[in-house]
Amino acid sequence: MSTDIIAKLKQAAENPRRVWLQDGPVSYAALLDQTGRLANALLALELRKGDRLLLQAEKCEAVLSLYLACLRTGVIFLPVNPGYTVAETAHFLTDAEPALAVTDPARVAGLAALGARVMALPELLATAAGQGAAFDDPDHGPDDLAAILYTSGTTGRSKGVMLTRENLASNAEALVALWRFTGGDVLLHALPVFHTHGLFVATNCVLYSGASMIFHPAFQPAAVLAALPKATVMMGVPTFYTRLLADPGLTREVCAGVRLFISGSAPLSPATHAEWRDRTGHAILERYGMTETNMITSNPYEGERKAGTVGMPLPGVEVRITGPEGALPQGEAGAIEVRGPNVFKGYWRLPEKTAEEFRDGWFVTGDMGAFDAGGYLSILGREKDLVITGGLNVYPAEVEAALDELPGVAASAVIGVPHPDFGEAVVACVVGGVDPEVVRAALRDRLAGFKIPKRVIVLEELPRNAMGKVQKAELRRLHAGLFAGG
Ligand code: AMP
Repeated sequence: MSTDIIAKLKQAAENPRRVWLQDGPVSYAALLDQTGRLANALLALELRKGDRLLLQAEKCEAVLSLYLACLRTGVIFLPVNPGYTVAETAHFLTDAEPALAVTDPARVAGLAALGARVMALPELLATAAGQGAAFDDPDHGPDDLAAILYTSGTTGRSKGVMLTRENLASNAEALVALWRFTGGDVLLHALPVFHTHGLFVATNCVLYSGASMIFHPAFQPAAVLAALPKATVMMGVPTFYTRLLADPGLTREVCAGVRLFISGSAPLSPATHAEWRDRTGHAILERYGMTETNMITSNPYEGERKAGTVGMPLPGVEVRITGPEGALPQGEAGAIEVRGPNVFKGYWRLPEKTAEEFRDGWFVTGDMGAFDAGGYLSILGREKDLVITGGLNVYPAEVEAALDELPGVAASAVIGVPHPDFGEAVVACVVGGVDPEVVRAALRDRLAGFKIPKRVIVLEELPRNAMGKVQKAELRRLHAGLFAGG
């Protein structure tokens, strides 16, 4: 069993000089006090262990304090993307039935109209300010729920992912050891805090090691470049890296004090990896995970960080590749399945859906992948994004990697589009000043004929979600009629 996150917070707070947030600065001792006040406020508002607290707020420090106050009381933390409209948020209210919804003042009326008990975040903070900092933490078990995070769900209704305290603690423990976090680290935090990456991976690594953070309300390249000289670690999604590369201010000097750049949540193209190394001298460490499983694999801290791969399973986490008949030999491509203390407890109020996603105790991620001879895992794309053309499987990631290497291609997304002869046709959406026919011709040296896109569509930009993930369902919908009528 791993040490609970709150025990680690208390350990860090014992040293009055230990800094949690560089800006202020805010000490761990102050953070512990603040979480105690908020925990007392939640009890005063009659929230009890197992109740859900929905938080929909713009990124600010209080989001993290409230997350920790929920962990202290046993109230289940349910963060929601502030980009969602009131109508989109309605689903979380009816599905999770939170005892309290906390939100920015501008959203209070909208959520209240849906029948929720709502409080503005500043009001909750004012209530907390009137409470004592001492809080008598009740006992919690490792299997108790810490949080419910809703999947971004590009198809169908979004599902509530139930995460336990041990899910979070075991993952933090593994990542801190693997990525060598210490109390001396300063993490540059520019990720959203409603998603596993910014909320758990980044924040828990810092808490678990007693490190500190430079906390940015959003990702702004200029602000990140200004802060980088004071940071030792940065975590980002691939779009952070491509946007920083587009800024002439990104230099070796700016990155001189950073010991580790980490990327995840979406594929980092080998081309970006190479460009970053040329510009800064750093090999970005790519890792792989998902809301349901926390982090699954990581490239090594020491040893080769192989571009285009997501590395090896974390200590304590098992990964297998399967086909319809079961586990496949090393090297073969198939479905990625995961087992370990990182894997979630199930989908909220969906026991049947949960059972469908597990096979013999292994969680079926929905991603396709293959291990190379060195034990590095490559992600080949979501199973539902696999293109089957004329009966042959085309893994979008392979075609995208070939496209991204071509001069002038800034980004690419490969999809399957209904086709009268082939069932599906491979179609490439690319961003950049390129001629579609030149692109197709250039791919002929690199890929077998059936993998070459039948059509290359040049776009201004790719549709992406808040984590920078390309929305392939949206692209498929937009281009569904491309080959209609022959
Ligand atoms: P989410 O639950 O929103 O974090 O999404 C998880 C999904 O993001 C995974 O199932 C993968 O499809 C994708 N993903 C996360 N990290 C990577 C990565 N390093 N490379 C490719 N895909 C990734």
